[in-house]
Amino acid sequence: MQHIEIGIKNIQERIKKAMDLAERDSINDDVKLVAVSKFHTAQAVQCATRCGQWDFGESYVQEALIKQEELSVNDVLHRINWHFVGHIQSRKAKDIVGRFALLHSVDSEKLALLLNKHAQQLNIKQSILIQVNIGSEDQKSGVDVKNLRNLTQSILQCPYLELQGLMCLPPVFDQGLAARPYFAHLRNLKEDLSQYFGINLPHLSMGMSGDLEAAILEGASLVRIGTDIFGARSA
Ligand SMILES: *Cc1c(COP(=O)(O)O)cnc(C)c1O
Repeated sequence: MQHIEIGIKNIQERIKKAMDLAERDSINDDVKLVAVSKFHTAQAVQCATRCGQWDFGESYVQEALIKQEELSVNDVLHRINWHFVGHIQSRKAKDIVGRFALLHSVDSEKLALLLNKHAQQLNIKQSILIQVNIGSEDQKSGVDVKNLRNLTQSILQCPYLELQGLMCLPPVFDQGLAARPYFAHLRNLKEDLSQYFGINLPHLSMGMSGDLEAAILEGASLVRIGTDIFGARSA
């Protein structure tokens, strides 16, 4: 599992370079690395924790819960911040509330109301992001830009949800910097919502293995990196 250690070091280097290029300071304007461990084992996760990596992203509920269970035999689990970055099906809403520090992919009012209901039953406040379909792609999840204010309004009326920002997956390009205008758009949308509703939205979740530099240049606070840490995924 030495490749994981090397992967994390390389990504940390790339993040640092991008932060320098963006003239962002890591004290007041930091970016956090979320290691996306989908299709990789609990052992791989545990290995990454030995490099000081404590934030992990998962995309599939069943797989994530099994991994959490496997890691619960030692106390590593309790220090991990789990992120859910995949599409959330309504019928899975009750399985994920309370089990992830942050849900990145809330994209409908119906889903928000369900999550709020389950959070109420647990008497917790669930932190969430809204996923925006920034490239208006039919095959992608995420709320359409034109419905973003309405969805935000609904979420702000859910007392057991805490809205912390926005997430996107831009259209795939051959070259990372081509995604930059989409990241800039997401940043503008976040600023618009902050102003319109008078709320503080600390997070912009954007940037993956191929385009993290462009995302950091446009203000990403969370980058979600899988392949360049854990290696290629076998589906
Ligand atoms: C898989 C996945 C990632 C990680 O992508 P890589 O290209 O492997 O770095 C990031 N975000 C989401 C939503 C994902 O599903």
